[in-house]
Amino acid sequence: MNRRLFLRKSSTGLLAAGMLGRLSLTESGTLQPAPGTTFIANYDTESPSCLEHLESIVNVHLKHGMPATFFIVSDILNDASKQRVVRLLDNPLFEIGSHSKSHQLILPHPLNPRTGNPREQLIDSKKRLEDIFGKPMTGYATPYAYVDGFKGHKDILEIVQEAGYKYITTICWGPGFSLPAPITDPFTYAADGFPELWEIPKHGWHENVLKGHTNVDSVALLNWPSPWPDGAIPKGPIKKPEEEFVVNKVFLDLAVREKKKHLTLAWHPWSIGRFDPKMKALDMTFAYVKKQGIKSGTFEGLYRELVS
Ligand SMILES: [Zn+2]
Repeated sequence: MNRRLFLRKSSTGLLAAGMLGRLSLTESGTLQPAPGTTFIANYDTESPSCLEHLESIVNVHLKHGMPATFFIVSDILNDASKQRVVRLLDNPLFEIGSHSKSHQLILPHPLNPRTGNPREQLIDSKKRLEDIFGKPMTGYATPYAYVDGFKGHKDILEIVQEAGYKYITTICWGPGFSLPAPITDPFTYAADGFPELWEIPKHGWHENVLKGHTNVDSVALLNWPSPWPDGAIPKGPIKKPEEEFVVNKVFLDLAVREKKKHLTLAWHPWSIGRFDPKMKALDMTFAYVKKQGIKSGTFEGLYRELVS
């Protein structure tokens, strides 16, 4: 790669924003991200237990040079923990986003009908995280997520816009609150009057459900006949990290085969750490992403690519 071009592109922040991976030279001589699916590792960091596993997760990312977005519940950071968390995550590989103030829902959900104050959850959490990390943030991941996200909820989207979010991730369920969630491409909320606000959906399983860590008796869960390829739906909760890697691989391969814009799975440090404290599934998944030449990045990096 031409070093001068490489540096020029770096200084625009593309690489710093996490769009690591293949770059190609266009006819006009500018560097463009290569077409293809971007894999995004993301973590809904939502409890003190999540913080206990953060260092092990960060270490696997550093080993592979793998970017990640950490969506954090701002109330879980206290005076005792926040400096350690900032030290761990203050790295150009990582993006910080909000996962609400106290994990209260914005809209009712079949697994939890109680909602909180949307201004607190959206606006206050962003301000507090920006204060703690000393930088602006662009994204919000809603607790639980929905089939259609915040579509049709203009009152909520107004608050999202007032908070200054550029993208939200509020979709991670299939029809009728089934799982796995379809591999939906990003879109804007133009139909609701917010053409500059992006939805970047999450996909596949909530890994805590795949492992039987969370009770989901109040939803139907599976869609039948299954639209998914073999291996996407194990016979029951998985027991070993190797099984998790096999499921992750099914979704990665499908996203690449169907030329999806991105693939991002719903991961939670508390559940990953309880199941696989040595982070073997992450290690195998990241090695596979690299081996297959799949691009990797952050939500923010993908957002910048979408608006460029
Ligand atoms: Zn959550």
